[in-house]
Amino acid sequence: MSQSPIKPTVPFDQDGKHHGFLKLPYSRDDSAWGSVMIPITVIRNGEGPTALLTGGNHGDEYEGPIALHDLAFNLKPDEVQGRVIIVPSFNHPAFLAGTRTSPIDKGNLNRSFPGRADGTVTEKIAHYFDAVLIVMADLVLDFHSGGKTLDFIPFAAAHVLDDKVQQEACVAAMHAFNAPYSALMLEIDSVGMFDTAVEEKGKVFVTTEIGGGGSATARSVAIAKKGVRNVLRHAGILAGTVEMEPSIALEMPDDDCFVFSESEGMIEPLVDLGDEVQTGDVVAKVWPVNQTGLAPTEYRAKYSGVLMARHFQGLVKMGDCLAVVAVPVK
Ligand code: CA
Repeated sequence: MSQSPIKPTVPFDQDGKHHGFLKLPYSRDDSAWGSVMIPITVIRNGEGPTALLTGGNHGDEYEGPIALHDLAFNLKPDEVQGRVIIVPSFNHPAFLAGTRTSPIDKGNLNRSFPGRADGTVTEKIAHYFDAVLIVMADLVLDFHSGGKTLDFIPFAAAHVLDDKVQQEACVAAMHAFNAPYSALMLEIDSVGMFDTAVEEKGKVFVTTEIGGGGSATARSVAIAKKGVRNVLRHAGILAGTVEMEPSIALEMPDDDCFVFSESEGMIEPLVDLGDEVQTGDVVAKVWPVNQTGLAPTEYRAKYSGVLMARHFQGLVKMGDCLAVVAVPVK
């Protein structure tokens, strides 16, 4: 394995709070010897577990970056036992552009793992996390939201894993996050995901989907801020007990949870996030928009459950995810 070109400007093994960068050399037209500077904070106090906290894996999702900037600014070393590594804008070029993927190489960081030390900028970021930061961590929390094209009910998530002991540890950390919903999540395509890279290394992994639409709300940010501290308490890194409120458990039995568009046009939602739906209910219509007098295409739920996600923008293309229905756990 070749050496990563990324150099941290912060120490990982010294007590105290250190703000700095992951410095990734990126030679280009406007800066021959320039670098991509990814903000990072390391807070360490003595021996204990390491939590790796990431936001901005996709650059148009904000609850994670807000909660993690807040944590990096406010968390004091003497509150910590062990180590917290905070990277609020994991794909920093995408974050600066306000886009899901990187403007440099169009890389989707969450489809780029395990990455390459000699690859594109996005692949180099993935490789550094895969080879260095995940290895240091006992627990990883990666914040997601819906971004500009999707909106979600607020949930923390764990995945179904072959190793049931590891799955239970991930589920326990998901419950500790204590979002209003907790989901055992099915991915459309888990190949290349950060999630998969962390789970394959045997680590405890929690992810989230908290809102979306390319912005944040006071409520969604509060969920993220409480969740990250709860997970750190659960890991024994912060003192105190986890703050628990009721959370609705959801599962996603198979691909029939997803409703995809087979037409294009304008979406008319028939149910809103968090609403109950029954199998066969129309969850959305897609209207043809280039002439009047044509019937809309109706899209139906294949499960009875709760509307977990919906397409956010008003216009829909072929293949877009229109809706996701998750099933409450009995
Ligand atoms: Ca995302």
